[in-house]
Amino acid sequence: MNSPTNPLIITIDGPAGTGKSSVAHMLAVRLGLEFLDTGAMYRAAALLAIEHSIPIDDGEGIAAALAATTLVFDWKSSPPKLLLGRRDVTPFIRSAEVTEAVSPVSACSDVRREMVRRQREIANAHPRLVTEGRDQGSVVFPDAPLRIYLEADPRVRAQRRVAQLRAAGHVADEASILRAIQHRDHVDSTRAVGPLRVPDGATRVDTSNLDLEAVVNTLEILARERLGPWLSITTTASVQR
Ligand code: C5P
Repeated sequence: MNSPTNPLIITIDGPAGTGKSSVAHMLAVRLGLEFLDTGAMYRAAALLAIEHSIPIDDGEGIAAALAATTLVFDWKSSPPKLLLGRRDVTPFIRSAEVTEAVSPVSACSDVRREMVRRQREIANAHPRLVTEGRDQGSVVFPDAPLRIYLEADPRVRAQRRVAQLRAAGHVADEASILRAIQHRDHVDSTRAVGPLRVPDGATRVDTSNLDLEAVVNTLEILARERLGPWLSITTTASVQR
């Protein structure tokens, strides 16, 4: 039974293009919780593989390279920056090259084992957390008191990605982006370890017809209903440290 003395973890899982990262970060800020972007960790592992010329399906090699370096968040910035070794890799992990490599890298069981271990370690140090990814409610924190699954029509997700890219001054072809999203969904949901799936007992929210603000509002209401008194306790890990 959960009580205010347990870690207060909200998990948000779902496929690419549902707005998970932005939603999770905004929700964390509104609720006074910290924010963990686990996709960024897998992206850093993919970057490491690319930079060390390790084949993207060599899980053992990538896990060994990960073990030889540090991968930590700088919790002073919001959202937290991600440091691989001493280098801030936040600007590099969303490149097309990393995005293409990340699904095969994250399908490697050695890589996942290492990431799950690190994510639980992070939650021990930061026990009031909104964490987002593909397996947070199903594998990493199955006892989290609130587990959310965000979904949206793949065409809507592709349109959102096109809008993001065009706003950033890039040329974007909707049909090829839709194919890439469907391919990534397929790889993420059919892998043997930690596949993307709706966690048991998760609340599903379809964001196809909702803007970011509306999704965050929905989740904030849900969190306050379910976790109300618990959220108002101010003895957070960061305050205690
Ligand atoms: O969320 P984001 O698009 O940054 O995630 C990048 C990739 O990292 C996903 O496509 C997925 O392959 C992988 N991932 C994962 N498990 C997580 C988070 C992300 O496998 N918990």
